[in-house]
Amino acid sequence: MTDENSDFAQTSPSPLASMTIARVLGIDIRMHFSVVVIFALISTSLAASIFPQWHPEWGTAQNWVAAVSAAILFFISLLTHEMAHSVVARRCGIEISAITLFIFGGVAEMKGEPKSPRDEFLIAGAGPLASFVLALLFGILVSLMVGDPQSLLNEEDSLNMADLSVLATICMWLSSINFMLAVFNLLPGFPMDGGRLFRAAIWWRTGNLMQATQMAAQVGSGFGWVFIGIGAIQLFSGNTVNGLWLILIGWFIRRLALTSVASMMLDQALRGFDVRAIMRTRFDKVPANTSTKQFIDDYLLRSTQQLWPVHADDRDIGYVTAHSFGGEDSGLKEATDNLDQHMHPLDQAHSINPDLSAKEAFERLAMYPFPLPVVEDGQVIGIITHADIIRWFAFHKIAT
Ligand SMILES: [Zn+2]
Repeated sequence: MTDENSDFAQTSPSPLASMTIARVLGIDIRMHFSVVVIFALISTSLAASIFPQWHPEWGTAQNWVAAVSAAILFFISLLTHEMAHSVVARRCGIEISAITLFIFGGVAEMKGEPKSPRDEFLIAGAGPLASFVLALLFGILVSLMVGDPQSLLNEEDSLNMADLSVLATICMWLSSINFMLAVFNLLPGFPMDGGRLFRAAIWWRTGNLMQATQMAAQVGSGFGWVFIGIGAIQLFSGNTVNGLWLILIGWFIRRLALTSVASMMLDQALRGFDVRAIMRTRFDKVPANTSTKQFIDDYLLRSTQQLWPVHADDRDIGYVTAHSFGGEDSGLKEATDNLDQHMHPLDQAHSINPDLSAKEAFERLAMYPFPLPVVEDGQVIGIITHADIIRWFAFHKIAT
């Protein structure tokens, strides 16, 4: 049950596989399809294992009704945890676009990073605090329903549980699961809440956000390994499902830690730059009446350039790339047509605006992994690829 910020787009559940189920305090609540899996897992484990142990006298129907109700309330608890992060983030001036529930818990998608260690501390702390408060509230409800809480403490668990009503049983489980949720999220591995608190502390001490992030992410990655290790031990001792689950969570924590640092470094480096600052400006153009054969012999095979603007009468009318010709097997050596037969237009879908931010260009080129012409007033003024931005970033990183 982890959560993270929006800027780590690579690790967020895909918005394509999510649907909006509600809108609370102006925040879209989305559900990723993987929630169905975890919902089924939780309901089944409650109905088939946990509740029958606590209440041998319950029938199958009663077990399932209680289990499904508890699972729904669990997801509402999860949502409350994320809402707590979101409300505090908003008070700190960070916009929240949506909360998405997915297989590993919830994600509050924040637009931007906390501006100070104090903000980070408050935002990160709000979620676990909400979970602790829920644990406490459900615990209080149980004690109110039991009447004499002392009777729960004195006897053995199995006996006590049987005395609980359906409602009290559900509250009991919710109290413990919310407590566990808070504790799990407080593990100091970035970008989990505990890792964010840890980062806020280092940030506050050193004043260096990047260094703090790297340290917190290293601890996060270490925790990922601990989970994988414990999972492997469980796996080999015959506890297959638990083992696999822990390995999966460990892998996920590690991935979050690594990608969040990479994404943050990239963010930092690209901040304030637009496409114009990063694009390639040294390139050749090709006349539209060039034959395809001549283009391949004289341009394509003589340069590492990946995209050629095509011009006619001093106007750019399109472009070709090495991919425009349908591969090496298409008998291009014998091609008799002209270049304009293979040209892409310079429309919005096939070009990029020089004023687009470097970050947005990076995201767009990740979705469309080919070089794109940078077009201003109908003329190609530059060429940009995903690799160009990474290369630019690598040089920039060395220079700072
Ligand atoms: Zn959280």
